[in-house]
Amino acid sequence: MDLQDEMPRPGKMFLSIVVPCYNEEEGLREFHRQMVSAARALCGAKFELILVDDGSTDDTWKIINELLAEDRNVVAVRLARNHGHQLALTAGLSNVRGDLVLVIDADLQDPPELLTPMYEMMVREGADVVYGMRRSRAGETRFKKKSAEAFYRLLAKVTRVHIPVDTGDFRLMSRRISDQLVQMPEHDRFIRGMVAWLGYKQVAYEYDRHPRFAGATKYPLVKMIGFAADALISFSMVPLRIATYVGALLTTLLTFVGIVAVVGWLFSGTVPGWTSLTLLVIMISSVQLLVLGLMGEYIGRIYIQSKNRPLFLISHIHRRGRLPHGAEA
Ligand code: UDP
Ligand code: MG
Repeated sequence: MDLQDEMPRPGKMFLSIVVPCYNEEEGLREFHRQMVSAARALCGAKFELILVDDGSTDDTWKIINELLAEDRNVVAVRLARNHGHQLALTAGLSNVRGDLVLVIDADLQDPPELLTPMYEMMVREGADVVYGMRRSRAGETRFKKKSAEAFYRLLAKVTRVHIPVDTGDFRLMSRRISDQLVQMPEHDRFIRGMVAWLGYKQVAYEYDRHPRFAGATKYPLVKMIGFAADALISFSMVPLRIATYVGALLTTLLTFVGIVAVVGWLFSGTVPGWTSLTLLVIMISSVQLLVLGLMGEYIGRIYIQSKNRPLFLISHIHRRGRLPHGAEA
C-alpha cells in the first residue's frame, strides 16, 4: 500500500499532537501558544493537542486544565503516577483520533513551526514517518552532546535495526504507525527504535535543537543511563555474545596458564606464584560477576514483562468538542 495515494490533505485531515509533560508548569503556556499557531497554519481547527501529565508534582495539571477551558482543541490526559517519558508518550498515542500524529516535547526544544515543512516532506516523499534529526543541540551540556553522540553510534553498531543517529522522539507519523506502536506490548520502551523497527518509508528532517524554554531537563544522568541500557538491551543481543567471547578467550588463556603451572610443578616440585594466583582468582571472579549482572539485566526485563501488567494507568481524560468525522472514541 502506498501512502501517497491516500495522503491526508490539509483541510481534510485531522492532526493529533501528543505531548508528554512532566513538571513543565513554567513553559507550558508558551508551548501551547506556539504549537496552536503552528497547527492552525497547517490544518485550521482540525487538530487536537493531547497534553499528557505524567504525574507531575507542580502545577502542570492545573495549567493543562486551564488551557482545556480556553481551547477546545486541548485534550487533557493524566497518568495515575509518573511513568516516565516513553510511557507517557505511549499513553498519549493510545488516545489519538487523527490521521496524522505529531510527537513533540513540551519544552520547546523541538520547534513547533517545523510542523508544516515536516508535513510537506511527508507528502513529497510519500513517507509514513518524518523524524527530526538533530543537526545541532543548543543549550545542552558538552557532556550530554558527546555522550548522546557516542551512544547513538554504539547503538547503530550493535543492532540490526536501522535506528537513525541523533534522533529523538520528535516526529510526524501516520496513524497506522502510531497504532502499531501502541500495540507493541514491551515495557522497556525505546520508542525511536521501535518506530525504526516497524519499517515503512521513514525520512529524516534535519533541524537545530533549541535550548529549553524554561525549567530543567527531566533526564538526569541516572535516567539517561537507564534509558541507554533499555535501548541496547531491547535492540541487541551483542552484550550477551560479548560475554560468550570473553568466556571463550579466558578459557583458552587459562588453559595455557594451567599447562605452564603443571609443567612447572612436574619439573621443580613446587609452583611459585601466590601473586599470580590471587590475580587470577580476582580476574576470573570479576568477569563472572560482570557477566552474571549482564544476564540479570536481560532476565529482569523478562521477569517484568512476564507479569503482564498494563503499561500505564490513566486517571483522567478530559476533552471538549465533538469527535472528528469518522474517528472512533
Ligand atoms: N517527560 C515526561 N516524563 C518524565 C520525564 C520527562 O513526560 O518522567 C517529558 C518532559 O516534560 C518533556 C519530554 O518528556 O516534555 C522530554 O524531557 P526532557 O526535555 O526533560 O528531556 P531532554 O530534552 O533533556 O532529553
Ligand atoms: Mg527537553
